Amino acid sequence: MSEPMALKGAPPRIDEIGDVWVVEIPRFGPEGTHYHTYGMLTPYFRGLGEGHLLATQCVNPRCPIAKGAGEFWLPPRADCPDCHQPMIWGEIQNPAGYIYTYTYVERGGAGLEIPCPYYQIDVKIDGVCTIVKSYLQGRGPIKIGDRVRAAFRTGPHATHTCLDLYWVLD
Ligand SMILES: [Zn+2]
Repeated sequence: MSEPMALKGAPPRIDEIGDVWVVEIPRFGPEGTHYHTYGMLTPYFRGLGEGHLLATQCVNPRCPIAKGAGEFWLPPRADCPDCHQPMIWGEIQNPAGYIYTYTYVERGGAGLEIPCPYYQIDVKIDGVCTIVKSYLQGRGPIKIGDRVRAAFRTGPHATHTCLDLYWVLD
């Protein structure tokens, strides 16, 4: 597998408070540092940096929608939007899917870490009921419906953000 594309800016610093990560993103210099806690969604970000795609599902038998056998949600939710009970974690094995829609981004806003141009893609992942906004590595021609598979920024490439999940054409 090829190396992940280089990103602009330094990766955020991570503080660990118990099991929870708090990221410190110096996106706009010392006066524009953004602090953000991942709270109960910390396992998702920890998983990305280790090459695993974790998602949540509702297994509450009283849930009016999931009825005890919910599909995976991504981005993950700590609690089910339908019954408000805690969801459980699971791993998407060999994550793959197809491009649901896309945008070719030629100019990004301030603070964007991904070098332009790039494809921002929405991915319908096999076995996941939601559609995930992410980005594609590669600038060749693409079309809606193209198959993609997940890739991860791990080890020294990890940013500890949602950028640690990206996609390559299958
Ligand atoms: Zn539910």
